[in-house]
Parts: sequence; structure tokens; C-alpha cells
Amino acid sequence: MSRELLWTRRNVLQAGAAGLLSSAWTGGFGANLFAQERGDRPPQDEAVTIVNPRGRVPVSFIIDDSTCLANLAHYGIPHFAAVYPEKYRQDWAKLPNTIPDSFVRKFGEWSREHGVKGKYSIVPYPACIGRIDQKLPDWSKKELNDSLKLVRDFMTVDWDIHPEMVTHTFAIDTKTGKPFADQTEDYLENTGFSVGKSADQLADYMSFALRILKNVGLPCEGVTTPGGFGNRSREALSKGTLMALRDVYKTEIPHYFRHLFTGNESVAPRVEYATGLDTDDPKCVVSIIGCTGDWFGGWDGLTPGTVDQFITEDLDEGRLPEVIERGEPAIMVCHWPGLYFNGDEIGFAIFQDVVRRLHRRYDDLIWMKLSEIARYWASKALTHITKKEETITLRSPFGCPDFTFEFNAPHARDITVKSEETSIVLKEIDQPLDLVSGQWVRDDEEVRVCLDLPRRKDVSVSWATS
Ligand SMILES: [Zn+2]
Repeated sequence: MSRELLWTRRNVLQAGAAGLLSSAWTGGFGANLFAQERGDRPPQDEAVTIVNPRGRVPVSFIIDDSTCLANLAHYGIPHFAAVYPEKYRQDWAKLPNTIPDSFVRKFGEWSREHGVKGKYSIVPYPACIGRIDQKLPDWSKKELNDSLKLVRDFMTVDWDIHPEMVTHTFAIDTKTGKPFADQTEDYLENTGFSVGKSADQLADYMSFALRILKNVGLPCEGVTTPGGFGNRSREALSKGTLMALRDVYKTEIPHYFRHLFTGNESVAPRVEYATGLDTDDPKCVVSIIGCTGDWFGGWDGLTPGTVDQFITEDLDEGRLPEVIERGEPAIMVCHWPGLYFNGDEIGFAIFQDVVRRLHRRYDDLIWMKLSEIARYWASKALTHITKKEETITLRSPFGCPDFTFEFNAPHARDITVKSEETSIVLKEIDQPLDLVSGQWVRDDEEVRVCLDLPRRKDVSVSWATS
């Protein structure tokens, strides 16, 4: 990727941000699409532009419907078919009941070799068959323990773990811990269950899911909504996520995955319900937005997609170049049964080709977990920024590695970063693509700086001119 294109992308990013302000947050179509409020925002001097981390475009991979051992398509389809018999006619009994740990390891190893990161769901009580912190009926206790250990020790290095509510099919009564007797649309997590629920009620439900993951020692900073969960209670979903994750995991920056867009809408993360920015208890919740459909193997492992939908053979077209050229995070979405594809691994093969093509086309990407993207966007929205002559002062409520920003400073030299305890002279480098924390790079009159912002401490960046 050429240097010119890098800078151009920055401008596109700004245009995108302006578009976001005029539509999503202030009225019209966007207001219907997002009932959530963004909450407080600190002053940010217009002379400073926050760009992508290290000037690279984030990419990430969302895996839904995974859990330990159980193939959610096999166990879930009969539940969906009980409510919507016309819609779910798949011969679920033919699908294997197990997605083996050998596939988890194979997928995880390939992903690590290629630098891939993202989110991996662990449905805590898959399709009501059993709780992963107790017993799953079709596997031994040892098999379940080994499977949990694989996720805990191996997968969590590159993958955030999310619950996908409790069962991904019929809802659980959190008072009894058992599925409700009434197994109708109103009790299906994917459709009716969340409708009309308050933030407190959804927080109670999400906390039930989170505690199961906590019981088996899995880390967690976010949740994924199964199917249409929360889509008709978006405000309650966002606030409930904030409450539940702070309550169960003491998560600093909770996030959730609910929306994906494949058109012209912005797919930049949204920082919602920000409050207490100047206190010792700042809060917000981040909505992470996917940019593709599942064009890998489908949620049921029966509907293959194509590599070209993501990025064409000539590397010029497809959804990913479209989003990457905008400078917005390109977050792909898939389902675990579709990657495995009943042992044929068709979705996985498509994913491998997508990654190879992406890496052939771009050298300015950065793979990130969703929690890392959430932290970056929270800091981007909520860092207090002032500029006075040759000094910029920043204060982030959360702290953020690789925080990257630009400003106009012809003839700048000797850029120094000072906080209460330290004073460091940043290193000037030549190539924008080499930029890491503690360095800066010049492009004509523009300066791009990358540094790790500490949590709730003033940091001043100043320079000499010659
Ligand atoms: Zn799902």
C-alpha cells in the first residue's frame, strides 16, 4: 500500500465520522436504527485528528455459535423448527452432534500462524442440553474439561470469549436455572424473549450467562446476541451489557456484538452511554459492528459462500476492500458450524483464502480482538484533548496502547512526551508503516504520533520548531 493511499484513507475516515454525526446520532434514519445514546463527550481540539492504531486499518473475525464440543446447528435446529416449522426444514439429525477439539486446535493454530484475531463464542448452556460448568449429556466430564482447557489455555490468547446469551435457543428462567415450560416464540432467545424487557431484566439474564463462563475460568469483556436478541430492545441491550459485565467481571470497557451492515452505513464501533469521564469511575459500552454476512459456511453448515464476496481473485473488489478503503475496521462474521461444515471444513477453507488474499493485497492492516478495538474506539471518543501552541495535552479515561494521532506542525522536531513521572523523546522514523508506540513520522507538514496512553493521567506532547 502506497504512502499516498495511507494518507488518503485518513481523510476518508474523517468524512465517515462526519457522516456518522449527521445521520446516526442526530436523527432521521439513524435514530431509528440506533436507539442508544452516546452519552458524554470531552472537548477534543480540532487541530488534532485521531487516526487508526499505528495508522493501520483494524481487521477482526467474529465467530458465532461456537461452544464446547456441541454442534449448535444439530441441537438448535429442532428448537427453531418447533416454533417456525416452515422456516427450519434442515435435516438436523444428519448433522454431526460434535465439532471436535481437534478442529478447534487446527483452526486456532492456522489463525495464530497468520496473525488472525477476533472473537470466539462459548454458548454457556447450548440449546438447553447442559451447562458447560456442570455436564454436557453426550460427552464425558473429562472430554468437557479438556475442551474447556483448550479454550482457556490456547484460544484466549488470540480470541475474546463471549457468551451468546445462555442457550441460543429457548430461554432459561434465571430463578430456577431451568428452561421455561413455555417453549414458544416469546421464550426463544433469538426472537421474542428480549422484546419489552428492561435493562435490569436483560442485565439479570446476561449475568446468568456470564457467571457460567466465570465458573469455568474463562475471561470475558463482551457479549454476542443470538439471532435477533435485543434488536427490538436496543437501549436495554446496551445498558444491560454495561451493567452485567461490570457486575460479573468488573470489565472496564464492556462491548457487544449485535449489528452487522453490508451497505453504505458506517461500520465503525459506537461508544455508548459514556458517563463519569472526569471521575475515578468512568463508564461506557461499545457496540462492535460486523461488515460482512456469513459468506463462509452459513450458521447451519449447509450453505457455502464464496471467497470473492469478501475479496476477488484480482484483489480489487469485494466487501473487504470497500470497507478497508474507507479506513473503517473490517470485521468479518461467521458461524462455527459453517467453518467446520460437517467435517468438510468448507467455511474454514474459504476463510483461509480470504486471509491469504487480504495479506497479498494489503500490508497496512492490524488484526485485533474485539476488546482491543473497543478500547481503542472508547479512547478515541473519550480522550480529553487540548492544544496550546507547540503542546498537545491528552487525558484518556481508560488508557490505550498504540494511540495514534496527527496534527499540522511544519518543521517539528524533538517531539517529547511528558507525564507526571516520565519524560521521553519520541523517535522519528521514515516509513509510516513502521510506526509503533513511542515513535513519530512526518508527511510534509503533517506529523503522526503513536504512544501508549496511561489511564487517567495527563500526558503532554510538545515539540520544537526550526
Ligand atoms: Zn448465533
